[in-house]
Amino acid sequence: MVKELLRKLSNAHGVSGSEGSVFSIVKKELKGYVDEIHEDPMGNLIATKKGNKFKVMLAAHMDEIGLMVKYIDDKGFIRFVALGGWYDPVLFAQRVILHSTHGPVHGVIGGKPVHMMNDEERKKGVKIDDMFIDVGAVNREEVEYLGIDVGTPVTMDREFAGLASTRVTGKAFDNRAGVAMLIKTLKEVKSPLTIYGVFTVQEEVGLKGARTSAYTLDPDCAIATDVTIPGDHPGIELKDAPVSMGKGPVITVVDSSGRGLIANRKVVSWLKEAADANSIPVQLEVGSGGTTDATAIHLTRGGIPSTTVSICSRYIHSPVEVIDLADVEAGVSLLKAALAKKPAL
Ligand SMILES: [Zn+2]
Repeated sequence: MVKELLRKLSNAHGVSGSEGSVFSIVKKELKGYVDEIHEDPMGNLIATKKGNKFKVMLAAHMDEIGLMVKYIDDKGFIRFVALGGWYDPVLFAQRVILHSTHGPVHGVIGGKPVHMMNDEERKKGVKIDDMFIDVGAVNREEVEYLGIDVGTPVTMDREFAGLASTRVTGKAFDNRAGVAMLIKTLKEVKSPLTIYGVFTVQEEVGLKGARTSAYTLDPDCAIATDVTIPGDHPGIELKDAPVSMGKGPVITVVDSSGRGLIANRKVVSWLKEAADANSIPVQLEVGSGGTTDATAIHLTRGGIPSTTVSICSRYIHSPVEVIDLADVEAGVSLLKAALAKKPAL
């Protein structure tokens, strides 16, 4: 069941550079389903299904946006930096987990009490530099005794939950939705091609794991799996984000207004034709917002024909992301259908 797999992946903690616990889940899930699993020097997990000479790289980033301890003051309050693209007000008043050398430690993100803010401060909102983590300690020694030090990774303390119908909410659906989709695809796919399932590290801080693994593997084409922004709820309009949750996976034509990826048209057609032939609902996207691992991959070596298959996620880069599991299932069907034959490149 993709729901239970996603629950496990979403509740796991793996901020950029500390993806170990997600790595362990992926490795365990894929055992017996692929020919080879190895870890590269960056920490990427590469799962290989051996086939003919045509090599396809499927990439899903394991990391989630989070925080890292930067300074502990004499009173035991902890200052931090953001790893990845947080909108500051989202962080204020969140409960967090600090991944100390002794294990997980709970904390809360505090700041100036709202009752004490003047009008200007209220309008401005709390900035990340004015926030701190409170673990209940009375001084620095007590924080250090808990195994927390400069460099301790921090993630949101938020559990996966079901919503109406096939919709679910949780943290880190960016990109555990893509990770779940890729795990399920690797388990079920029947393909004559050689498939590299690459679970990448450090995407949220600069598409780093994808860059090095694409160089090593030198594939003939690549598909990144990730999440994208739907324009189907208040605060955004379809004209600005013309894809919707529940209407199928999204194939990228262009993202970030062309500054990120201008996808290879033949790879897009390969996916679209597989979807049409198998009656799988898909959406095409020309986006102006973020980008994915495919951007780093397609610029590797002499250029690698690439695109992205995304799952619509509402409230992206927050601890309350929402997706429709039907889109993940359809994404698996799409990848399986396409991989049955090689693209005409
Ligand atoms: Zn992502």
